Amino acid sequence: MSKAMTITEFFKQFPDDDACLDHLFKVRYGKEPVCPKCGQIDTFHKLSKMPAYTCNCGHHIHPMVDTPFHRTRTPLQKWFFAMFMFTTTRNGVAAKEIQRQMGVTYKTAWRMARLIREYMGLVDGDAPIGGSSGGAGIVEIDEVGIGGKDKRGFEDKVSVLGMVERGGEVVSRVVKRRTVEEMFPIIAKYVRPGSRIVTDELPTYTHLHREGYWHAVVNHSAKEYARGSAHTNTIESFWAMVKRTIAGTHIWVSEKHLPKYLGEIEFRWNLRRSPELMFRVLLVSFQRP
Ligand SMILES: [Zn+2]
Repeated sequence: MSKAMTITEFFKQFPDDDACLDHLFKVRYGKEPVCPKCGQIDTFHKLSKMPAYTCNCGHHIHPMVDTPFHRTRTPLQKWFFAMFMFTTTRNGVAAKEIQRQMGVTYKTAWRMARLIREYMGLVDGDAPIGGSSGGAGIVEIDEVGIGGKDKRGFEDKVSVLGMVERGGEVVSRVVKRRTVEEMFPIIAKYVRPGSRIVTDELPTYTHLHREGYWHAVVNHSAKEYARGSAHTNTIESFWAMVKRTIAGTHIWVSEKHLPKYLGEIEFRWNLRRSPELMFRVLLVSFQRP
């Protein structure tokens, strides 16, 4: 079993910006990169005055292109440490915390958090869940309202649709309304045909039968939830993490930015049983050119 990286190990592996750049270069271009210009193997060396490598033939490679760190003045080691922070917390990282720990401006901290969050969502991905074969788990579908009251004291909640396969992954999406028109295209996209689905008694879900899903209902009002397999405890545990992150760490998140936070929380929830992998997964998942 691997263990989570400690802060000491972090600074041993990434003592400076060059070590971080070297990591990116190796992960994205391989240990023995082939020069796309002259075709020679393993001829690159680091340029002294810019974050790039050059081949003997003069061809340059910029390892930060198409990563969250591209076009930034923030040192790469700070980015790596911010990612480390994101993977060593249970409920997310506030921009204020990054500002405090890194000694960057709030604006920079906020931008770093946004880009790391996007990257986590990208790495997590959204592969379809469920299915009609024997190995596929039951899919729980549910919706919640995230948010609270606006400045005038009116309810200002955003609806989020969550779909999770027991023993598998979660996918969530912001929805305008809890209607068939709004929710079913999303369900059809992410939940495989023929899946066994459990929901609460929201009338919208009665349409699941017509879409060819097997459908069981949990009668929350009759306090039936933990009876047999007809429960929604799995999606409830995801909602609990969403609420701890949004209400606990960030206090309030706008509808516009909520999808990015959901991507981050999905990443964290999907790896919750092996949190020691979170940072390692982020370190090796940069898009290969
Ligand atoms: Zn070359």
